Amino acid sequence: MLTFPHTLAAAVIVKFIPSPWLALPLAFISHFLLDFYVLHWNPHLYTEFKKKKKFRLSSLIVILIDGSLALFFCAYILVKFWTEPWVIALFAGAIFLATLPDTIEIPYYFLGFKNRWLERYVDFQHRHQHNGSFYGGLATQLLLIFFCLYLFFS
Ligand SMILES: [Zn+2]
Repeated sequence: MLTFPHTLAAAVIVKFIPSPWLALPLAFISHFLLDFYVLHWNPHLYTEFKKKKKFRLSSLIVILIDGSLALFFCAYILVKFWTEPWVIALFAGAIFLATLPDTIEIPYYFLGFKNRWLERYVDFQHRHQHNGSFYGGLATQLLLIFFCLYLFFS
């Protein structure tokens, strides 16, 4: 799943369960639940990397847009809660944990980092995705995005 929906899911968890003892582990678990159970489409980084050792421009553009939306949302949280550092820390921790399973892969894909454990992990992540078609898999993520935005701002 893309980074933006993972980020929003973490923010919704913090909004409704503002206890760090619950919100932080739940945010981390939410990553795997969303990847495993929600049909989605992602750029095919794994396949592109295995075949050509580089990525399609379209994949990089999707990553850039997705990452920018996530950062923009984080900036919004910073501005909205700037008088409450504890709240910001909780959001930051939850968002960090909810996106960590994907950000771990950045050194592998983008920094040429080769390591047996990291390669196994990337394979594991690749096998544990509920992949859908481009339109279907984007539609479910858009629905999830709007649902999370609705819950967050309601
Ligand atoms: Zn993932």
